[in-house]
Amino acid sequence: MSLVETHALRKYFPAGTGFVSRLFADKKVHAVDGVDLTIDRGQTMGLVGESGCGKSTLGNLLLRIHDPTEGTIRFNGTDITALSGSELRPYRSEMQMMFQNPQNSLNPKHTVGKILRKAIEFHDVAHGDKATELARQYLTEVGLRPEHVDRYPHEFSGGQQQRIAIARALSVDPEFIVLDEPVSALDVSVQAKILSLIEDLKNEYDLTLLFITHDLNVVRHVCDEVSVMYLGEIVENASTEDLFNDPYHPYTRALFDSITLPEPGELSSGGIQGETPSPIDPPSGCRFRTRCPDAVAECETVNPELVERERDTSAETRDTACHLYDPLDR
Ligand code: SF4
Repeated sequence: MSLVETHALRKYFPAGTGFVSRLFADKKVHAVDGVDLTIDRGQTMGLVGESGCGKSTLGNLLLRIHDPTEGTIRFNGTDITALSGSELRPYRSEMQMMFQNPQNSLNPKHTVGKILRKAIEFHDVAHGDKATELARQYLTEVGLRPEHVDRYPHEFSGGQQQRIAIARALSVDPEFIVLDEPVSALDVSVQAKILSLIEDLKNEYDLTLLFITHDLNVVRHVCDEVSVMYLGEIVENASTEDLFNDPYHPYTRALFDSITLPEPGELSSGGIQGETPSPIDPPSGCRFRTRCPDAVAECETVNPELVERERDTSAETRDTACHLYDPLDR
């Protein structure tokens, strides 16, 4: 059963600010452009793609941190697309976000106890001494000590700060957490421990997770399902196992070719030919056509829909947006 669903979700930003925005008054950055996404309850979904493809914007839209330009977002069966601030409030505690750099989201002037208590009290989970007690409990849950409530964020390592961020997200009893590059700022040895902690807590608290990352090695180890994003669109959806065994979409294949899988690390576009086109003026037809080694004439005019397709060589099906897998076009 789905917990989060989007339909034809779009987010366009003005191209530039100030003087630049006046120059490009009619231009928009197509950050997210017609995304249909379903995340089932209890699932860990991975969202991958190069930097700037719209992954983080999509994560922010799901939590209504950004307002969509068009389309719908449903959470737990409720259309939350147009809910106002006060109407959204009950959903805020159910949907939490974790960022790449915890130090940016942990107020350096507040003790860890105050940081957690503020979240717990804001969402009416508990107040006063009960809130402090919960803060201590959640610090223990993430492998820290109860007495750490009296320390400040700068007294902790990067991995410990990410544990505090996890404790804060957990402390308001969420169902769904968007994790935006949660381990990419950490050392490799710390990454493994944080990923393992997230997996354990996901099972203990029955969480549904969206893992936004450029690191396919992380995806392979923690996600059940993966969506691949290119220039604001989802181009392939598959189970993690299927995607790693046999990527269909030419962009997914190029993404896999561009990294060395055994080592978590920065994804470069070294294996993908050409420059990423501008999201202000994306290519006609298939957005990947300017870099795709398999492009055919139709790719220039018709944008392939994300639909279930199969390879010639396999009976397996896959949601893929590519004319190569449309029997009429072969
Ligand atoms: Fe390449 Fe055409 Fe498929 Fe796009 S639709 S990925 S350009 S073959």
